Amino acid sequence: MPGYDDCPRCGQFANLARHRCPPEWLAFHADYMAESEADPAFGHSADGAAESYAERRFADWEYPEEMEIWVKKGGTRTGRSSL
Ligand SMILES: [Zn+2]
Repeated sequence: MPGYDDCPRCGQFANLARHRCPPEWLAFHADYMAESEADPAFGHSADGAAESYAERRFADWEYPEEMEIWVKKGGTRTGRSSL
């Protein structure tokens, strides 16, 4: 499709002329990473952000079905998602 590509910011496949990134969060894997290693994640909810973070970051891992991702927004921890 013309005009469609992966967004360089959030990774979503979209028509980039019209695309707006979902809200940005910070996410990190609670078991393997320190909070200071958190990466940007994008989603319309804490769960959505955790999910897209896991897909991008751990897609080539054989990760356990349950993992805990912390997501933060505006410097505050907003929750923990188990995927
Ligand atoms: Zn985007």
